[in-house]
Amino acid sequence: MNKDAISGLILAGGRGTRMGHVDKGLQAFGGTTMAAHVLARLEPQVATLAINANRNLDTYAAFGVPVWPDDTPDFPGPLAGLQAGLRRCATTYLVTAPCDSPFLPADLAARLRAGLQAADADLAVAVTEEDGRRQVHPVFCLLKASLEPVLSAYLDGGGRRMDGWYGQIKVAEVVFDDADAFRNINTPDELAQLDPARPPRLADVVSCLSSYDPDALPVRDAQRIIREFVTPVRAVEQVALRAALGRVLAADIISPINVPSHDNSAMDGYALRGSDLLPDAPTRLDLIGTTYAGRAFDGAPQPGQCVRIMTGGVMPAGCDSVVPQEFVQVEGESIVLAPGVIRPGDNRRLAGEDLKAGSAALARGKVVRPADLGLLASLGVAEVPVQRRLRVAFFSTGDELRSIGQPLDEGCVYDSNRYTIYGMLQRLGCDLIDMGVVRDDPQALEQALVDACENADAIITSGGVSVGAADYTRQIMARLGDVTFWKIGMRPGRPLAFGRIHSNGRSAFLFGLPGNPVAVMVSFYFFAREALLRMMGAEAPLPLLRARSAAAIRKKPGRTEYQRGILARGADGQPEVRITGAQGSGILRSMSEANCMVVLHDEQGNVQAGDMVDVLVFEGLV
Ligand code: AMP
Ligand code: MG
Repeated sequence: MNKDAISGLILAGGRGTRMGHVDKGLQAFGGTTMAAHVLARLEPQVATLAINANRNLDTYAAFGVPVWPDDTPDFPGPLAGLQAGLRRCATTYLVTAPCDSPFLPADLAARLRAGLQAADADLAVAVTEEDGRRQVHPVFCLLKASLEPVLSAYLDGGGRRMDGWYGQIKVAEVVFDDADAFRNINTPDELAQLDPARPPRLADVVSCLSSYDPDALPVRDAQRIIREFVTPVRAVEQVALRAALGRVLAADIISPINVPSHDNSAMDGYALRGSDLLPDAPTRLDLIGTTYAGRAFDGAPQPGQCVRIMTGGVMPAGCDSVVPQEFVQVEGESIVLAPGVIRPGDNRRLAGEDLKAGSAALARGKVVRPADLGLLASLGVAEVPVQRRLRVAFFSTGDELRSIGQPLDEGCVYDSNRYTIYGMLQRLGCDLIDMGVVRDDPQALEQALVDACENADAIITSGGVSVGAADYTRQIMARLGDVTFWKIGMRPGRPLAFGRIHSNGRSAFLFGLPGNPVAVMVSFYFFAREALLRMMGAEAPLPLLRARSAAAIRKKPGRTEYQRGILARGADGQPEVRITGAQGSGILRSMSEANCMVVLHDEQGNVQAGDMVDVLVFEGLV
């Protein structure tokens, strides 16, 4: 008996009571619906498939299989679905699976069939054993289609229990080891929990770490959690080539042409046939003309002839080599070249050598630089698909902050973070929503977060996440979504709030950066930057370089330290970095003097003069 003898039936005819009376099979799951999942898993196991459903019949029919409603009225339960299936079954056997069991075993039908045969039974039913408890799963069964009259008699007599008619037939129990495969999804919560397509939760991401202490989190762990938690914004737009500068490619760009499009010369010289070259005597060739840029040579040089050619000129037919002009003597209408100055094939660029038609010129996820604009232009590409710009809302928090233009009251400071953040976001190419200064007041903060969430993909705040201030911030952020507060093993910039908040069906990733002006930049560069780029669809890990430290640096192992540095050429021409003045986390001036950050990693201790260290250069020539 092979699968040709088996039909599959998906039981989707229930009322979905515990789901809130929705049609369970049509609930979104893993990018499609639960029923589609079950269908896909059962399909390879059987000859034909059908669905038993009592609502939304057209939607089920769109799966491309027959849809059979109950014959027995009033939702008597899965047994009515089984009856409907048996009545229409064209094969010897029918196997059933419920529409809410997306993990069902890939060998369900085969195992049940083997069990049925071995016991010479009428029906085989799946059984699992979990924690010593034996559980029968009557909705996962394989039975003879000929049992229809027995089942109908039971239903007509008012019987409703799925296994209530087992007394009248021979039943084989087949034990499956993987109890999880029979798990069904009954409530919206279970659905959300188990949906493989749902966005990850911080708790899930964090559980992948071998140890996790939010109050002493290593930099690398924080970076990893953030990287795994954020998801790219998928919207794409088509822009004119120039407008693509600095944007992220949303698709591979396939070259429509060969580059170069013809075999051409790499030198100013003479195109010739390699087979004319004499190995041990001077070669004399007749000069029959000149090829001009942008035109093919009309005419075909014969053996013993050559053509004057310029760099980039199209190789005349039959010619495969170019001798540079400095290697030849021109004698009237001939040239003479010494033996061995070139080999056949030299100085010729082959069509498609840079790029073959049909191959990927640029990969999706690349941030478009000037060279890429040029490359795209060389392919004749006028428009490119790019990711839509990321919308980032940002604000500063603190009662002591004054905006430029306001008088600086006693004890107040001008809000500088909003300008630093503006600059860093602008450099990343984000669309910005500057929300100003928000007072240290729960209502104001909540309102600002809600507004930001409804209008932006990401939110950057500064201030208010350090221990003293955090209490109500914590409560508000936790209420609005999935946000965690960390103390990171780093200096400067220990506190960081990170997560995702929701409001009115919109959500945004949140980076609550510390308030100190230097800490804010360090936290942005080392945590927010890569995450924002990821959200933009770009893969751009931090470009750390190695440089020699000009002087000794004191450093405690066990935390990451970021020091402001000036990178320059040392006396021997090699890159050398020295630390700039005072490193206090409020001292923005030394940040402004610096052109890089020296990154001293967790495990590192004191640095000796001459040791190599990692640096992050602020400006990149791109
Ligand atoms: P906080 O994290 O709110 O406790 O702030 C830490 C320190 O950073 C305090 O001295 C604040 O005055 C300062 N600070 C916070 N936000 C800003 C800002 N936007 N501009 C300048 N300094 C700030
Ligand atoms: Mg503050």
